[in-house]
Amino acid sequence: MLDRLISYCLSVLNPRSRADFAWRLAAICALVVATDAGIDALLAGTSPFSWTRRLIIVVGVAPFISLFMLSVHHIVGVKNDLHRYANTDMLTGLMNRRAFLDALDQAEEGAIMMIDVDHFKMVNDRYGHAAGDAVLGAIASHLQTNLRTDDIIARVGGEEFAVYLIGADSSEIDRIGARVCAGFTLYNDTVPAPIKVTMSIGAAYSAMASDQAELFARADQALYEAKHSGRARLNFWQPVVSGRS
Ligand code: GH3
Ligand code: MG
Ligand code: MG
Repeated sequence: MLDRLISYCLSVLNPRSRADFAWRLAAICALVVATDAGIDALLAGTSPFSWTRRLIIVVGVAPFISLFMLSVHHIVGVKNDLHRYANTDMLTGLMNRRAFLDALDQAEEGAIMMIDVDHFKMVNDRYGHAAGDAVLGAIASHLQTNLRTDDIIARVGGEEFAVYLIGADSSEIDRIGARVCAGFTLYNDTVPAPIKVTMSIGAAYSAMASDQAELFARADQALYEAKHSGRARLNFWQPVVSGRS
């Protein structure tokens, strides 16, 4: 409750533009004048409204209110920047692992995809680290192009990405996964030669896992199997069915 009140007061004090600043300052000054008149009326039982006195009060308090509003504006800006830096992968602009885990906490049922670039070390070795970085940036765009707008996309490690598809069914996941795995060929000013990249994916359903750790472990296991069965493919985690034949 107190948190909400504080954030409401900060939102009132935090101007978004010069015009917004001017009208908020005027509104707060009007509130100060009204409060002064109210106190007078309560104490004296009348309202001896003196324009000179109100003007002196407003001129006296306006610079302090302005300074306070500008300080709040600066602090809110710094807070937003810190939040962005703490949650964003700076190379690709995607969410980082930490933000992905937070988003997963709030997400409805769906499926996770752990995506690992195939033979990425070779890209670095052959074309250099800068070209490798350019490929990682292009992978972020490739994922954004091929996934749905509501899907949660993150870079969770060096050449590892994670995607959470909310409410997707298996045919949808197969379709999206096939497009992602097929990859692309990057050829522009940022790389010395055309670079073809493919991806392997391990997928698992959230409904079949008891917590995040289990969901990640299953997707990782499925990814490991996708790598070992030839790469550039999607593999779903399946429970091992044991029984006598
Ligand atoms: P696999 O198909 O088995 O996944 O092979 P791989 O070569 O992709 O896997 P490996 O784990 O051997 O190599 C991953 C490489 O990713 C090694 C590391 O140098 C590179 N890498 C990790 N982070 C970055 C980064 O931020 N930029 C660049 N350019 N390379 C990175
Ligand atoms: Mg890897
Ligand atoms: Mg790899």
